[in-house]
Amino acid sequence: MTSAVAIGATTPHFPSFDRLAAGADLPDGDALALVDLGDVALNELCAAAGESRDRGRGNVITFSPKVFIPLTRVCRDFCGYCTFRQSPGEADDLYLTADQVLAVASAGQRLGCTEALFTLGERPEQRYSEAGDWLTQSGYRTTLEYLSAMCRMVFEKTDLLPHGNPGTMSRRELEALQPTNPSVGIMLESSSPRLYEAGGPHEFAPSKRPRVRLRTMELAGELGIPFTTGILIGIGETRTERVESLLAIRDLHRRFGHIQEVIVQNFRAKSDTPMADTPDAAPDELMWTTAVARLIMGETVNIQVPPNLSENYERYIAAGINDWGGVSPLTIDYVNPEAPWPQLKELERRTREAGYELRPRLPVYPEYFANGSPWPLPEPLKEKLLRLTDQNGYVKGGTQRYARND
Ligand code: SF4
Repeated sequence: MTSAVAIGATTPHFPSFDRLAAGADLPDGDALALVDLGDVALNELCAAAGESRDRGRGNVITFSPKVFIPLTRVCRDFCGYCTFRQSPGEADDLYLTADQVLAVASAGQRLGCTEALFTLGERPEQRYSEAGDWLTQSGYRTTLEYLSAMCRMVFEKTDLLPHGNPGTMSRRELEALQPTNPSVGIMLESSSPRLYEAGGPHEFAPSKRPRVRLRTMELAGELGIPFTTGILIGIGETRTERVESLLAIRDLHRRFGHIQEVIVQNFRAKSDTPMADTPDAAPDELMWTTAVARLIMGETVNIQVPPNLSENYERYIAAGINDWGGVSPLTIDYVNPEAPWPQLKELERRTREAGYELRPRLPVYPEYFANGSPWPLPEPLKEKLLRLTDQNGYVKGGTQRYARND
């Protein structure tokens, strides 16, 4: 690609798209300067991001066949956009029982799923005595302790691999998940402190303070745990703040190499929330941010846009993504229940028509375990990963193994 806009030649603070497409590093100042370009150069930005993706990730776009296990929807926090959280009086189940968890995981295995995504409310026992009582009666002190036990059960009794996404985690809690979780995750959402000021979406959500989320990510890096994170766009942050969030993620990745994946998720307003009247994130905002995420994170880090939150999701391939994230043939997206997953055949068709091959992956990417990867995953975990995957580290059988489900 030859950039039609020779921006770097005339404006020294703007990066040259040709240089970026060729794999040049994007210094912090240059990344921030992209904001000043506005949408004038959106096509050039996307072209550079797409070239970077092609060079680093080839023509494969991945997804993770998963089941979504909402271990508890009770949460100590209140985010302005959330319909996932429930108070004890609203919840059918304070926590899913071990039998319920195993039933979902086993059903997912029969459909060819390989990821058990545990998404749950943040430490509900710290706000609600009902949650604390349930845990005590079940033999656990904390939600994270119960999560760890459920991950172990799924790891030992099924072919699925847990991916814990429980909110903030301490070193001890991460260490407890590490033997069974080939990766864990927490969305940074935004590094902007403005979002937890009065009236902001995180005013009543102490766990959304950027400092504590970045600390969880840092601890995972120190422990060598492959990590999924991302940003949520359209919740009141500016483009500059998005770039700052991505730079904070990149800083951690440069220190530890553990950021396996960055999700760029678009906000969608939901009725019955304080942000019901906030407009959805616009497609061009998602396009711009995705391309910037690719250019900041570089050509090898996996960049994901969820396909169930956009009508024409295939357009984000042109902005440099190489992953669609978890897609389930069994369970809904409990965080966005109004947004069904695409059928696999449709996802494959749209991916193919854009010129790429769809492949299923595990909740950890091949570079962390396959082809003699030196990444230090626990040995029993690595054995299971290798058993489930082909010589390239993708799920054995490819998309063919799901043909019967469509
Ligand atoms: S987004 Fe997460 S932390 Fe915020 S209220 Fe919902 S469940 Fe709780």
